[in-house]
Amino acid sequence: MTTSPESEHPIKAYGYAARDTSGLLSPLTFSRRATGEKDVRFKVLYCGICHSDLHVVKNEWGFTKYPITPGHEIVGVVTEVGSKVEKFKIGDKVGVGCLVGSCRSCQGCVTDYEQYCPKNVATYGTPSYDGTQTYGGYSDHMVADEHFVLRWPENLPLDAGAPLLCAGITTYSPLRYFGLDKPGTKVGVVGLGGLGHVAVKMAKAFGAEVTVFSTTPAKEKEAIEGLKADHFINSKDEHQMQAARGTLDGIIDTVSGNHPIAPLLNALTPHGKLVLVGLPEKPLDVSAFSLIMGRKTLAGSSIGGLKETQEMLDFAAKHGITADIEIIPIDYVNTAMERLVKSDVRYRFVIDVANSIKAEKHPIKAYGYAARDTSGLLSPLTFSRRATGEKDVRFKVLYCGICHSDLHVVKNEWGFTKYPITPGHEIVGVVTEVGSKVENFKIGDKVGVGCLVGSCRSCQSCASDYEQYCDKQVQTYGFTNFDGTQTYGGYSDHMVSDEHFVLRWPENLPLDSGAPLLCAGITTYSPLKYFGLDKPGTKVGVVGLGGLGHVAVKMAKAFGAEVTVFSTSPAKEKEAIEGLKADHFVNSKDELQMQAARGTLDGIIDTVSANHPIAPLLNALTPHGKLVLVGAPEKPLEVAAFSLIMGRKLVAGSNIGGIKETQEMLDFAAKHGITADIELIPIDYVNTAMERLLKSDVRYRFVIDVANSIKAE
Ligand SMILES: [Zn+2]
Ligand SMILES: [Zn+2]
Ligand SMILES: [Zn+2]
Ligand SMILES: [Zn+2]
Repeated sequence: MTTSPESEHPIKAYGYAARDTSGLLSPLTFSRRATGEKDVRFKVLYCGICHSDLHVVKNEWGFTKYPITPGHEIVGVVTEVGSKVEKFKIGDKVGVGCLVGSCRSCQGCVTDYEQYCPKNVATYGTPSYDGTQTYGGYSDHMVADEHFVLRWPENLPLDAGAPLLCAGITTYSPLRYFGLDKPGTKVGVVGLGGLGHVAVKMAKAFGAEVTVFSTTPAKEKEAIEGLKADHFINSKDEHQMQAARGTLDGIIDTVSGNHPIAPLLNALTPHGKLVLVGLPEKPLDVSAFSLIMGRKTLAGSSIGGLKETQEMLDFAAKHGITADIEIIPIDYVNTAMERLVKSDVRYRFVIDVANSIKAEKHPIKAYGYAARDTSGLLSPLTFSRRATGEKDVRFKVLYCGICHSDLHVVKNEWGFTKYPITPGHEIVGVVTEVGSKVENFKIGDKVGVGCLVGSCRSCQSCASDYEQYCDKQVQTYGFTNFDGTQTYGGYSDHMVSDEHFVLRWPENLPLDSGAPLLCAGITTYSPLKYFGLDKPGTKVGVVGLGGLGHVAVKMAKAFGAEVTVFSTSPAKEKEAIEGLKADHFVNSKDELQMQAARGTLDGIIDTVSANHPIAPLLNALTPHGKLVLVGAPEKPLEVAAFSLIMGRKLVAGSNIGGIKETQEMLDFAAKHGITADIELIPIDYVNTAMERLLKSDVRYRFVIDVANSIKAE
């Protein structure tokens, strides 16, 4: 699919969606259709959390398409009606339950049983007639054909009434259909959860004598005192089950856990009806004998038609029936889902949507490539960026390098990725807009943004131009910005950043092959400077010859150092010496070569992030030598204190550089003709590039030709 949830329709919508089988819900901007002739658009006020929502967000029924926004117990207030809408006007209170469409012509539809129409459209997670996905009520607003919109009765509470749209009709409809709605009828209700507790109230309102079956004896008090049931049976107690034999005209079984039904059939009178509304996974064990002897019926029932749902709401209003609810803000929804799994709710969660949902603040549409889950596969995403603030520079992205970090983050290998994520922190572009107080840039300027787009600007690190060590730094992608929204990187059409974090692009520095300097360049330049390895004649080692390493060699050579490359691939010797002008090459797997290198180097920049021994590297240092790590191996390093003490050597780490130093590095690179060796790719090659990067199959950096290959929809 090339369109995104946000771009397929003209009206922006905002909700909570699950992205993968974890079922975790997070904010999603998507879109809803314009109001059609027969459509009613309404602001969502409340939405109940149905047990189905839980199954679907985790794809337990196998047909979930992500992202999915659940919710089919939706109550709201009408904000717009189509020209041919007859029953509703702006300001009306309305509800939408489990259905938003059906064929309107089949036998089911013409007899008001839309729930059994083979072409019906569920309120969320099914394709609508226009081919787009439906999104449920965990969202700011809904739009539906008026046929599927219910008039909300005057005196029915909006919050506690919401669950009736699924739980209410699911129990009301079978009570009616199977004739269990007559005063004095003896009705059993199995299970006392979201459905069961409403079933008891419905049956009582019809005048039935109600028996609750539960495996939890502790629920007896609630059943009898709270819900006014007449009898309570512990269904695990054989004596009690025995005593109930042949006493009930009908039973509504709401339990979806596997459970025996033979004892329930036994509890029926002759002609009794056992109606299943829960969905146990395993096939039922039914003996024909138990049905034949007493002409008993075993049946199932699913929700109800629209006409009957309206009738049910009016009935509930008349009899004061609501669900027992716990009202929650929308950002509590993941906790609510966890509690629902443990049946830890009396009896239904209802989301106070209107008072707790926050629409995304950003007004400017942006377009990029994003990973949606740990597969790390990137696909087009429409998102948004903030308007240009006083100190902001907005620029069109021309090129963006693919850093090895991008690969780790899209797959959530460091554990903090929030999806969707748009990577990229080696970004070069051209300014399209500047805020009123921007001093250093004007429209048309070539600029760069590296790994940072924000920092506190006041701590010790910030005050001394080391923003990279600020505790409150905001990285260019996948970080929470100061306004609470997520940052999106340079695999996108444009960027916006405070001018402090924007770099002036030197005249004669190529835009494409210069881009990787914004991460790989500063990561190697900064430690060479800081650790005094920038003096002519200094003997510098560079470990690893990849994206970082090859730039480290060029930087060190430009400082006038004598450079030794360490690599485990002897095949790289030619590239190191001839291509990158390194002075020496050491195969770090060759003990003789390593032995020969002992005590020869003033400093080493170690760019390798795979686990590798560092003792031999410490041995290669002269006294006072410095081993600086810029790669981050997963395992702790093995360092013998002895190897540091004898020679006063040090092991240090270094991470990118401050903004001032990054500017200095770019100017230095321009002056010395330093760029990365790159392979330029179109943005739709990015997944293949990531695969190749994983195998180190690139000399040495992929750079995305963003402006020439990204296609906004
Ligand atoms: Zn439901
Ligand atoms: Zn139909
Ligand atoms: Zn990087
Ligand atoms: Zn700071």
